[in-house]
Amino acid sequence: MHGRRIRKPPGECQDANLVDYEEGVHKFSWAEAHALLDGLPGGGLNITHEAIDRHIAGGRGERRALRWIGRDDQFRDWTYAALGAAANRFAYVLASRGVSKGDHVFTLLGRAPELYAVLLGTLKSGGVFSPLFSAFGPEPIKARMTIGEARVLVTSEAFYRRKVEPWRKELAALEHVFLTECSGSPPEGTIDLAAAMESSPAMFETVWTAPEDIALVHFTSGTTGRPKGAVHVHEAVVSHHVTGRLALDLKPDDTFWCTADPGWVTGVSYGVISPLTNGCSLIVDQAEFDVERWYRILERERVTVWYTAPTAIRMLMKAGVEIARRFDLSRLRLIASVGEPLNPEAVAWGVEAFGKPIHDNWWQTETGGIMISNFRSMDVKPGSMGRPLPGVAAGIVERHGDGSVREIETPMTKGELALRPGWPSMMRGYLHEEERYRKCFAGGWYLTGDLAMRDDEGYYWFVGRADDVIKSAGHLIGPFEVESALMEHPAVAEAGVIGVPEPTMGEVVKAFVALRNGFEPSEALRKELLGHARQRLGPAVAPKDIAFRQNLPKTRSGKIMRRLLKARELGLPEGDLSTLESEER
Ligand code: ATP
Ligand code: MG
Repeated sequence: MHGRRIRKPPGECQDANLVDYEEGVHKFSWAEAHALLDGLPGGGLNITHEAIDRHIAGGRGERRALRWIGRDDQFRDWTYAALGAAANRFAYVLASRGVSKGDHVFTLLGRAPELYAVLLGTLKSGGVFSPLFSAFGPEPIKARMTIGEARVLVTSEAFYRRKVEPWRKELAALEHVFLTECSGSPPEGTIDLAAAMESSPAMFETVWTAPEDIALVHFTSGTTGRPKGAVHVHEAVVSHHVTGRLALDLKPDDTFWCTADPGWVTGVSYGVISPLTNGCSLIVDQAEFDVERWYRILERERVTVWYTAPTAIRMLMKAGVEIARRFDLSRLRLIASVGEPLNPEAVAWGVEAFGKPIHDNWWQTETGGIMISNFRSMDVKPGSMGRPLPGVAAGIVERHGDGSVREIETPMTKGELALRPGWPSMMRGYLHEEERYRKCFAGGWYLTGDLAMRDDEGYYWFVGRADDVIKSAGHLIGPFEVESALMEHPAVAEAGVIGVPEPTMGEVVKAFVALRNGFEPSEALRKELLGHARQRLGPAVAPKDIAFRQNLPKTRSGKIMRRLLKARELGLPEGDLSTLESEER
């Protein structure tokens, strides 16, 4: 698994923003990264100013900022100037109602066209933006809005009636509710957003914000337990900007499609902020995942940089490479993925389907931006997350019982992935959870809770979440390694691997497998997969048991919930299920 390498011939990527990794790391400074942006007078910094107003002032206002594609395939375009005007109107809507700096504005909108002006307008008015995933039910919405002390909510009338109205009175802090898609006069206690926007001026002076003023609160995916509200400040825009430039190779002429929903951190940091600060044109598709639709969008919109997730790539793989080949995807310059480990099989499939590998990168809600990445100009080792961004110092460490932390220097040794704090988009806290936040730091490191290894060239290899790692007969086994081996078998579409307690071994490895189209579960196939895994991994690491599943339980952001596979296997309480995909309930 660690042997393959996809080479990038010298000269092929001379136009990349990062041509030479070592040199890029050596030359990088956060001060220079800051200097790429405008800032506000007196040392201020505001995300929307950098994403929109800077371009308008620079004469780039008439460039397209956003193409929004509706479910019916009709599209709407906004230039930077038009998106800026819409953001101004929303900023005015807030300010004229006394909503002020530091107030929390929540959205429950899905990929609605209004979302972008609401996000940018909120930040421009000095407010704190917090998106909710629109498929959440009433309870997770209420829980997050309570933690976030929401003062404003923007949602559709339908969502409001179903998901918010029943409990609204219990949330005393919630003063203003703006509705999209109003069918008539808005329900009591709500305001029609379109009408409010229409009667507002298209000019608004950015409320002065300091780099350390809170801008965003993002809730984590809840893969390992109760979601946390990670707090980010306006200074994060420095990371958003340079990581988009270096890891995603974003340039002003790019048409960029980030498929993540703006209910999650990726959909905001890279679905909106980073590409806009880099002057790109965004693609947003309101519809849900569909193989042919996605390929059609990539072709028709001439997408140049595409940022997606392993779960989507696995679904495309499931549908087969022939479909991809029916489309002209020759404009694609870079394909990147985040959110879960990307199996080597998927990286190689990218070469088959698109003529280029898929570039994995790693980060978390907490880190606010990409930390480790496969860069366009750098050789890709399938299965590796790549190397740290310039300006980011990473290490593999070991925690000791006395609270101390030791760095592990030996290559390919498993330990916890840790980062030296100091990059601009690092979270400044978990909302109302000071203790949980403090526990993330020790010995001058931020401890990520993920296990990884580093090879002798400085590439990082994901092993598993600390909570998911399996200890079997003295071995530390990462589920990812086992899942990747299973994925190499043509019958396997997805795999989730857990440890099941067993008296002599400590734990034994068990795999849950979903099959590709055209394969049926059978005892013979089960035996074949066990044999395949044993051959690939050796008896110590291979699963002792394999069970077939139609689907694996996933978070709404598409991550396999191993903790749930385990709880169900052991008959234990299932824990917080607020982010579980509904069809799995
Ligand atoms: P919670 O913290 O609530 O359990 P979560 O960790 O899934 O949820 P996110 O912040 O959305 O919430 O996800 C970050 C995590 O996703 C990382 O810590 C890591 O475990 C996983 N991850 C992200 N990108 C990658 C990647 N490229 N390879 C492997 N794992 C990844
Ligand atoms: Mg996490």
